[in-house]
Amino acid sequence: MTEMRTLKVALLGCGNVGAQVARILIEDADALAARTGARLELSGIAVRNLGTKRDVELPQELFTTDAETLVKDADLVIELMGGIEPARTLILSALSNGACVVTGNKALLAQDGPTLYEEADKAGVQLSYEAAVAGAIPILRPIRDSLSGDRITRVLGIVNGTTNFILDQMDSTGAQFADALAEAQRLGYAEADPTADVEGHDAAAKAAILATLSFHTRFALENVHCEGITKVSAADIAAAKDAGFVIKLLAIAEKLTDADGGEGISVRVHPTLLPREHPLAAVRGAFNAVFIEAENAGELMFYGQGAGGTPTASAVLGDLVSAARRLVLGGPQRTETTTGHVPALPIDAAVTSYYIGLDVADQPGVLAKIAQIFAENGVSIEIMRQTIHRDAESNVESAELRIVTHRASEAALAATVEAVKGLDVINSVTSVLRVEGV
Ligand code: NAP
Repeated sequence: MTEMRTLKVALLGCGNVGAQVARILIEDADALAARTGARLELSGIAVRNLGTKRDVELPQELFTTDAETLVKDADLVIELMGGIEPARTLILSALSNGACVVTGNKALLAQDGPTLYEEADKAGVQLSYEAAVAGAIPILRPIRDSLSGDRITRVLGIVNGTTNFILDQMDSTGAQFADALAEAQRLGYAEADPTADVEGHDAAAKAAILATLSFHTRFALENVHCEGITKVSAADIAAAKDAGFVIKLLAIAEKLTDADGGEGISVRVHPTLLPREHPLAAVRGAFNAVFIEAENAGELMFYGQGAGGTPTASAVLGDLVSAARRLVLGGPQRTETTTGHVPALPIDAAVTSYYIGLDVADQPGVLAKIAQIFAENGVSIEIMRQTIHRDAESNVESAELRIVTHRASEAALAATVEAVKGLDVINSVTSVLRVEGV
């Protein structure tokens, strides 16, 4: 019997995810060898501080602060340090040395992915990053491999567990944003500085990756229009609920065709109203899900845990076994195909339905004036509902109008809202939110 080959695995980082990856590599060594056709030997773990207590017990002799030397001698490198540097330099060094790299670093991929992909292609090695989008959920490989014979037309993703938890909390308890955020922080779903999550930056990095793989064209962070959830109020949530919708922060990448047949991709992150019967509306708490529409496959949905050390380690190990199998079998390693060259569209070109809340004077003829402005701007109204309020002190009546439009361009909607604001019967525009799935 021929002896099984050994592949050296260097692990960079031993935090939430890295510690679990190290544990599984050691505990499941025999099973991983059987699945891979090679023994995966953990050759070392690079960290910042050798004295830090780790989540799992690991042999002390594996630890080093010299990541550069560790990388030089590895067949496979797992980068779980996070941040831009030194992760970027170490990954580039590993790729140019001929090592396959597995990373979960969405921030780095969104900022400088093309440099990394090019280096991997040049060196003929695999760069995999399943863990970078939606944690444990296998989503990038299905898009890249299983759907490579199809044409994806649209991807809608709940890819940030923190914001989904906050919006779900607001929806189920009626809490304001600040209170739901405080609860998320208390339970460990949100960091002390929640900016990257609540402003949508984390979801935007994932949207760029999803769009790149789905449309075979490289999209960078600057191609992603990004709005977070900090302006979503308890009143927005209540109004949405009343109208049969739920508000979710969605990462959206979709192909749009203009009147002349020109194609472009709209990549964006923003709070979105979804009908409560849409499959993504059922994604509660900190869970993630990605909903894909493809020409031949139709609708697909992927659901699971979007973060956490052990779930994310599952995605990392999947990438590792896949890369190791390719090393065992030999042959060229391909990261992705980016031959599409479809342009990224500005947010003005996005086409969607809208929910508009208006506080209006309760006078005859108001509805007709508003409807006329919508018609003049080419935005057609699907639903218009009016509720009358009487101020207890002043005894003045006002009306709340809730309008859901048919699909229209962002530019047409912006012009409509500006024109509506100018009407003397409008007290205020209380909310403008995009709607998907109707
Ligand atoms: P973490 O808990 O902060 O751990 C980071 C690890 O990297 C620590 O062990 C740290 O060493 C080490 N490190 C940081 N800078 C270093 C440097 N300059 N040199 C050597 N070691 C360094 O991070 P994490 O939560 O495991 O996340 C790791 C990566 O996975 C990130 O890119 C993250 O975005 C991604 N990811 C995480 C999750 C999740 O649920 N946590 C989900 C999906 C993707 P010390 O321990 O000595 O400080």
